[in-house]
Amino acid sequence: MTARFDAVCERLEKALAESGRSAEDLRLVAVSKNHEAAVVAELARHWSSRAVPLFGESYLQEALPKMEQVGSLTEGMPVRWHFIGHLQSRKARDVAGRFALIHSVDSLKLAAALQKAWHNRVAGEPRSLDAPAPPPQDILLQVNVGREPQKSGVFPDKLEDLAAGVLNMPELRLRGLMCIPPLAEIGEDSRPYFSMLRTLRDNLEGSFGIRLPELSMGMSDDFFVAVAEGASLVRIGTDIFGPRH
Ligand SMILES: *Cc1c(COP(=O)(O)O)cnc(C)c1O
Repeated sequence: MTARFDAVCERLEKALAESGRSAEDLRLVAVSKNHEAAVVAELARHWSSRAVPLFGESYLQEALPKMEQVGSLTEGMPVRWHFIGHLQSRKARDVAGRFALIHSVDSLKLAAALQKAWHNRVAGEPRSLDAPAPPPQDILLQVNVGREPQKSGVFPDKLEDLAAGVLNMPELRLRGLMCIPPLAEIGEDSRPYFSMLRTLRDNLEGSFGIRLPELSMGMSDDFFVAVAEGASLVRIGTDIFGPRH
């Protein structure tokens, strides 16, 4: 598994070099869903000599206990977690303040639930008067770039309204956009969708006069293309951990 991880890192470096991009503008999210804490901890130890390990999880009931287990197996080594899966508003309580970045915000209802949860959980924690205020919850908006009815994500034509609503919530800090393009035969088929996500991001930056540095796009089968199209976060599971059961 660590050899597969090293191979993925090499391919990412090659993709960056070919598109003339710098390594600082790209982070790898190792998608650890369906894989055991012991395996995740092994990768964390291997990875930590180079960078802070960063894992992505999709299912809350699996992620929360695993995060604790990995924490004790790695004994306080810094490890970061992102939430990348579909999220229901009633589960917002369990994610706010626990994940460095939530990739999958796709409705105002969910954003409002996260805002409220952040207040109750994070802002409500006891701290001394001179301590800095806790940082807001970083989020991405998930866009349904293929307009697929069975998939999560806001439709592209509704994105600007959602962004406007989220930008009114000081507890949430909008960092960029995420997409999962329609299932494709080859990675190259995803290119128009990645390019669309980048354009949508650029348009939001223009409309609201803000910086949105993150584009979360690219998985095992299409990350090479995603890097060429400007991804700042690639989410890779299978190529690192092998097939999920
Ligand atoms: C599972 C998952 C991935 C990883 O997919 P692979 O094809 O295994 O690399 C990436 N993003 C999301 C949102 C996922 O659910």
